Amino acid sequence: MGKPLYLGLLAVLLVAAAVGAALLFFGGFDRDAGAVHTAAPMGTAKPTPAADSPADIAAKRDLLALMMAYQGQIAGVEKGDDGIVCVVMLSGKRIVYDDGREKTFEQKLADADLQDMMEQEYPLGDVDGVREGNLDPGRIRSYALFEEVYGGTEKAVRANLKSVALGRGHCLFNANNGAAAQLKKAFKEISALIDNEPGVSGFVYPLGGTFNYRVIAGTDRLSPHAFGIAIDLKSDPRDYWRWATREQGQGRLTEYPPDLVRALEDNGFIWGGKWAHFDILHFEYRPELLLKARHFVAPGETVSPWYAGYPETADVMEAVAVIDGAWEGR
Ligand SMILES: [Zn+2]
Repeated sequence: MGKPLYLGLLAVLLVAAAVGAALLFFGGFDRDAGAVHTAAPMGTAKPTPAADSPADIAAKRDLLALMMAYQGQIAGVEKGDDGIVCVVMLSGKRIVYDDGREKTFEQKLADADLQDMMEQEYPLGDVDGVREGNLDPGRIRSYALFEEVYGGTEKAVRANLKSVALGRGHCLFNANNGAAAQLKKAFKEISALIDNEPGVSGFVYPLGGTFNYRVIAGTDRLSPHAFGIAIDLKSDPRDYWRWATREQGQGRLTEYPPDLVRALEDNGFIWGGKWAHFDILHFEYRPELLLKARHFVAPGETVSPWYAGYPETADVMEAVAVIDGAWEGR
């Protein structure tokens, strides 16, 4: 036997042994094959619960991130006989998690379900360039969710606005779901950062603006600014994909202080500088995407239990029980 062939066989055997061990560890094939619906193995009192498929894991983890990001806003989760999963909002309104429709990127922008909104991974850490294609994590938004949480009409949104004292002056931000409080916290960190690095000030002030009941340029969709959950920092002609070339955007990204981005991300804000359709002055309160990013599991990957990586605190485990309950028809 030649040495490369021998080594190859050895590698195959090692992989087989590892797979075998993993299967033993996770309970074997029969859990996926539906054995749970037959008689329990001898000596055990109750059947093992069905293992979650990668699709179930992805859905449950999205729902957990949503429940933790919108605590107190989502009252429950339901899974119908047709398999359609909904979150139930405090008002009783049901929002579909996955409508099962194949959509183009434009259709997702116009008519997103919660799964579409959660689909793209928001990259934590520094970016080294303008992203390609339609990599725009956060531009796909569930308006049904925003309307429930932040206000369904201009009047309703205005009633939820609060004046927040920032480093220089005040701005209006939505008080619901901790948005205004998190902005205030982020700006405390930004002020400390400016004390250490005075140059950062020139990227923040004068602020571009927060609440503005308007649509997104070139569309008929409401801007996140209309809900009072977005802030534009100091404007630069190279900031926006409709105004600037990719090269100009790239130049601006290269200069942008990473510590400034981090101060906002640490407090639940995503940055438009991480979008292919870049919007570099724009930060938006989207704690669900940051939670998903911090506990990221790649599509198709299996983890056990499905909420692995989350701390097993009382509020996490309560949400886990709600989601598992929906899957088990409770
Ligand atoms: Zn903006």
